[in-house]
Amino acid sequence: MIYLDYQATTPLAPEAREAMLPWLGGPDTTGFANPHSPHRPGRAAAAAVAVARDEVAALLPPGGQVIFTGSATEALNLAIFGSGAKRLAVSAIEHAAVLDTARAVDPGVTILPVNGDGVLDGETPIRGVDLVAVMQVNNEIGTVQPIAELAQAARRAGALFVCDAVQGAGKLAAPADADMIALSAHKLYGPKGIGALWLRDGLSLAPLIHGGGQEHGLRSGTLSPALCAGFGVAARLARERMDADAAHVRALWQAARSRLSRWTLNGSADARWHGNLNLRLDGLDVGRLMSDVRDVAFSAGSACASGSGRPSHVLTAIGLNADQAKSSIRLGFGRYTELQKLEDACARIEAATAAQGV
Ligand code: PLP
Repeated sequence: MIYLDYQATTPLAPEAREAMLPWLGGPDTTGFANPHSPHRPGRAAAAAVAVARDEVAALLPPGGQVIFTGSATEALNLAIFGSGAKRLAVSAIEHAAVLDTARAVDPGVTILPVNGDGVLDGETPIRGVDLVAVMQVNNEIGTVQPIAELAQAARRAGALFVCDAVQGAGKLAAPADADMIALSAHKLYGPKGIGALWLRDGLSLAPLIHGGGQEHGLRSGTLSPALCAGFGVAARLARERMDADAAHVRALWQAARSRLSRWTLNGSADARWHGNLNLRLDGLDVGRLMSDVRDVAFSAGSACASGSGRPSHVLTAIGLNADQAKSSIRLGFGRYTELQKLEDACARIEAATAAQGV
């Protein structure tokens, strides 16, 4: 199997896995201790959580605190609901974790458009709202947004700015000037089941989850030291390898792009994370392609999270019609993708599309 779905999730880095093992514990160890317990094993677990928190914080701007959550979806819900904002604006290409949460708070949410390249204008007018949410890197087409300009415009308009940095964290420099930033461990070679919200110092939120008062009272519930330790090591590796990882995916992207040169690229070629290649070919039957190339794990570019069969709102927002959206695929690759395997996968995809006569 050749795994080309790095936007859905990434492999767990071996170093992160190694760091998690002692904290999974077992009857003959104390690594399972509750990090909120005051005894020695509890304090050791708390220390592991503290180290992990510092590693995650090092990926983010100074002047804020990291609140661990169960996922980025939870972090975004905490940011949006917890802020108390009533009038919202979000980009047209946000993930459902932002779009649906924003609609739940403000059914009349303002949708900020993107251009045909899948990029927002940094000068998009922002007024009459309390909170703006724009993602750093889009999960479907990989485009990178002008976050600093938009965050500054939101501030001038008296609105909070939330950035979903799930696809950018650990890959690009942290988004500048945001008030809150959400990230997820499993998109940066860490474990599933843990995310984080970075909250600028001086801001306060109302909790969504009440209970034992963990995470400064903002997210009650016992933390998993194993998940935190895995997240921390993954964050440190991402920081250390940021340039090497970026150079690797750029080389992979160029190789795949030239192998699939007759396909049309969805989204900007430049303002993007190059670990994402979303392509379309007129007349392609993506379902058939996926079944013919079963030993390559990739995604249908048109897939809607709910599996409703509706064309992707992201591809629609960049101006594709339903047929174009439904003839798109997404190849996602990263740190552990080998060039030879990617080229192999591209060759199989090309052969299968040729067999379709498209
Ligand atoms: N935001 C973006 C851009 C994503 O790609 C995803 C996951 O696909 C999420 C949010 C949700 O992340 P999580 O799986 O941690 O809830």
